[in-house]
Amino acid sequence: MRVGIPRGLLYYEFALMWTTFLDELGVEYIISPETDKEIYQKGVNHAMDESCLPLKVFLGHVEFLIGKCDYILVPRMETLGYYDRMCTRYQATIDLVANTFREEGLTILPFNINYSEGESERKSFIKLGKFLGKRKSQSILAYRKAKHLRNDAISNQEKKMEDKLSSDKVKILLVGHKYNVFDAYSGSMILNYLKEMDVELLLATDMDGKKADFYAKELTDTMPWTFNRQLLGAILKFKPKIDGIILISSFNCGPDSMANEMILRKIKNVPILNLVIDGQEGVGGLETRLESFLDIILFQKEGGLFDRKSDISPDRKL
Ligand code: SF4
Repeated sequence: MRVGIPRGLLYYEFALMWTTFLDELGVEYIISPETDKEIYQKGVNHAMDESCLPLKVFLGHVEFLIGKCDYILVPRMETLGYYDRMCTRYQATIDLVANTFREEGLTILPFNINYSEGESERKSFIKLGKFLGKRKSQSILAYRKAKHLRNDAISNQEKKMEDKLSSDKVKILLVGHKYNVFDAYSGSMILNYLKEMDVELLLATDMDGKKADFYAKELTDTMPWTFNRQLLGAILKFKPKIDGIILISSFNCGPDSMANEMILRKIKNVPILNLVIDGQEGVGGLETRLESFLDIILFQKEGGLFDRKSDISPDRKL
């Protein structure tokens, strides 16, 4: 039995837990490779024009895995806490995949998280194990190990962030969904470019999501999308200590278009660069914008335009 894991969307949230869980259960798996032009194009061929870039990429990864495994793991995430909401595309991915590839004979291995319906993360892993023919006790042990490793990884990330904040270098907070920031064909060019610059790079997604959510309440009680709230919370937490913010979102993303607009309006006195990525062929335009942005930040550090005392636009909370 071999499970295929598409390298897209929620893979970047759950990769460590899924792979640890499957390793512990002795289940073989294959992860689709880094996104390249061919995988991207496959996704584009299957997706509707209105689909966001990460969804197109995800479909390309599913197609790559067809014929190479017995099951393809496709997550559905509706709520991560009892009062949360997720982007509708996380909710619809299983149906979209099943419908798009209905003639390919693929078998989906479902992974559902929906706290408001009692489908907790733990329960979802136990169900995953059951689907794979494993006993509940085996799955619980495998889940505990996976959870433990994930918690460790988050603690390490947070510690590294704190270390970076004490650096004398220019500090940039990169804010975007993991599947945008880390995808090899979408946002990783930005990540790699910044790593080559002499700056200290902090990733908003390295912050523990629950803590970030708490910080977001300073600015909004009503933003519905959990991950967007967490990104906002990371901005609010780190804003006093960073020199610039880069927002990365992908073309046709509804939640990002609203959340980032709010960030641009409400977060004042720190330079913000808003990048919207699509399946771009060249990176020259992006590099020019990044270079100019870093120039502005250096200017600011040398006593430029902004008054850092006032952090948030004084308008009322949204
Ligand atoms: S949050 Fe945006 S980019 Fe992510 S799946 Fe939803 S629409 Fe696509």
